Amino acid sequence: MDEIRITGLRARAVNVPLPYPLKTASGTIVTSPLVLIDLLTDANVTGHAYVFTYSPIALKPVQRLVDELEAVVKGLPLAPFEIDRAMNARFRLLGHTGLMRIATAGIDMAAWDAQAKAHRLPLVELLGGRARPIPAYDSHGMDDVELGTKRAQEAVEAGFAAIKTKVGYETLERDLQVVRAIRQVTGDSVQLMVDFNQALSVPEGKRRGRALEAEGVAWIEEPTAQHDYAGHASIRAALKVPVQIGENWFGPEDMQKAIDSHACDLCMPDVMKIGGVTGWLKASALAEQHGLPMSSHIFQEFSAHLLAVTPTAHWLERMDLAGPILEPLLRFEDGKAHIGDEPGAGICWREDAISRFLV
Ligand SMILES: [Mg+2]
Repeated sequence: MDEIRITGLRARAVNVPLPYPLKTASGTIVTSPLVLIDLLTDANVTGHAYVFTYSPIALKPVQRLVDELEAVVKGLPLAPFEIDRAMNARFRLLGHTGLMRIATAGIDMAAWDAQAKAHRLPLVELLGGRARPIPAYDSHGMDDVELGTKRAQEAVEAGFAAIKTKVGYETLERDLQVVRAIRQVTGDSVQLMVDFNQALSVPEGKRRGRALEAEGVAWIEEPTAQHDYAGHASIRAALKVPVQIGENWFGPEDMQKAIDSHACDLCMPDVMKIGGVTGWLKASALAEQHGLPMSSHIFQEFSAHLLAVTPTAHWLERMDLAGPILEPLLRFEDGKAHIGDEPGAGICWREDAISRFLV
């Protein structure tokens, strides 16, 4: 195949409605702010990816960063590892983290999508794997008893074998009340994970962790501040239930620090913050070497392809932050994610919807 070169980037900001507001112990997300990236090439293929900016405040700055990065990647070969190396070198002095890492990760993901399309292969096959159904858990918010049990019921009826709920209510008693109500609905055969979204102090993390451990939850996620790896290690040492972290690691370099600190039993890098597909591949090698079961965080389309080539693949998080603006190419059936056989990562824009939610 002739060498393909990048000819441009396009970034659009959208604010997409969510089926349910995403309530967490550290704030509520009511709409999904996304920057949609198109990576243009001289081979008549366009790569697509979206990045999630958490707050609408960051939408325009990230869009602007992608626009500015066009000058950096224009003319480069369509070779994601080459682009990754160039970006790491270019932003070493600034610090390749935060919004800059989000922007470059989006470009990386779009480049991999374009590469897969150029080879007319689903991303998983370009990466040397094969499409297989990936076990998925249905991921819910801090929904309290009424909505929490309603969503749990729907998830069980849809065939999910695992559910995650967010906790960290004002009291431990409230956490227990919600978890027990959901358990009543799901029965014991469904795994139940809980996520504190960093809300607790270290001693409170141990106290609530012990109580939830007795409820038989499958993991306890981010009980304390995400950057406090020593704190997580201390909580972990006090508990038998696995401690899960990773969604806030910026690059494999953060993951390495967490591993050095013995901060977790399980890991769940976010394909965006970890540095795109290239960053995920590096992270999955670390997970394998350290025996860490690896789950995904949001970004269900790319993550389904990536978990299929992850040696310690654990769970895919089913949380649909881009549903209204995407063709539904990723299917969930029997509690598993099924990727389609179309080339690329399964990102196909619904232009009519995009025009409605454009910022
Ligand atoms: Mg989480």
